[in-house]
Amino acid sequence: MPPEKLFTPGPTAVPWQVLETMSRPLIHHRTKEFREIHREAAENLKYVYRTSDPVVILTASGSGAMEAAVANLTRVGEKAIVIEVGKFSERWRELGEAYGLDLVVLKAEWGDPIDPDQVAKAFDENSGVGIVFVTHCETSTGVLQDVKTIARIAHEKGALIAVDGITSLCAQNVQTDDWGLDAVIGGSQKGFMTPPGLSFISLSENARERMEAGRHPVYYFDLIKAVKALEKNDTPYTPAHTVIIALNEALRMIKEEGLENVIRRHTRNAKATRAAVKALGLKLFSAMPCNATTAAVPPDGTADKIRNHMVERYGVRIAGGQGPVKGKIIRLGHLGYYHETDMYTMISALEGTLVDLGLSDTPGQGIEALLRSFAED
Ligand SMILES: *Cc1c(COP(=O)(O)O)cnc(C)c1O
Repeated sequence: MPPEKLFTPGPTAVPWQVLETMSRPLIHHRTKEFREIHREAAENLKYVYRTSDPVVILTASGSGAMEAAVANLTRVGEKAIVIEVGKFSERWRELGEAYGLDLVVLKAEWGDPIDPDQVAKAFDENSGVGIVFVTHCETSTGVLQDVKTIARIAHEKGALIAVDGITSLCAQNVQTDDWGLDAVIGGSQKGFMTPPGLSFISLSENARERMEAGRHPVYYFDLIKAVKALEKNDTPYTPAHTVIIALNEALRMIKEEGLENVIRRHTRNAKATRAAVKALGLKLFSAMPCNATTAAVPPDGTADKIRNHMVERYGVRIAGGQGPVKGKIIRLGHLGYYHETDMYTMISALEGTLVDLGLSDTPGQGIEALLRSFAED
């Protein structure tokens, strides 16, 4: 049997050029050779982030950089706004609780984004908010948040904004400098088409000043130390340098394709997938769909059956629902290294599954919708 194909919004497919770098004999991390690779990777991260701020590479999955943001950019008891619209934004709240922050939690139904007016209202009703924590693309529901407007509101009130961009970086327009995002978090196993193990965090001048002025006790996730080391193309501790070497290759590929083209490819794939899903008679779950994943609602009680059948019969692995939508939605991934022809693989597996399970008797509609969508674009 050919290997299973990943169509999950993390981990995502890794190109062979990236995998190949990981099979080379190990080098030492305190060498000129590795420092040069680290320098290039950190520089190219700035290109993807569209920033001139330092972007620190941490050896930890995405949640590690989220914890680093909370620990370094806040103090005990500090007031913070958390926007909670799904599983990953819930993590911001849980981190805020773990670090003893005074939280103002703004919630929306799963599948909906928050209206930025609600953020403005929360600022009016609560004085002394130091920071806003927001998830750009809520991967559990496929919802995109209007981070640009929320950043403007936060800055008008003198607050910082920390953005989980883990599934928006590479897939959406993320303007770290132009929108004034104080900290943006990324993860290697998402749009960066690299295996898991690394996370990234950019730090604006205001963010760096804030952490110098006082923060929680930190050790491993000390971002002041990490920024100082980065200035020397170094890390405070042993990094997962095999993964950084892989990341460097992936970033070279992104740069060669051109960030604009990479984002356009994601936009086309996402749009075509949504068209196919609708043509197949499934409802879209997200009121504001992002480019990383398409969340769809199949008939009651069939979501997990569909998902299992797709992987067992067709070798195509997609994701399911989490939390309150567990067993209710399927999530089709188009984040990372996917050509439009890969969308045919994913949609034909979904379409075949619907036919196999007796949920459709008009085969071809999903594929036709893909064809039409790609032809229009
Ligand atoms: C994947 C993901 C994370 C991080 O998860 P890790 O398992 O710690 O890498 C955080 N936020 C979002 C939006 C994600 O998609």
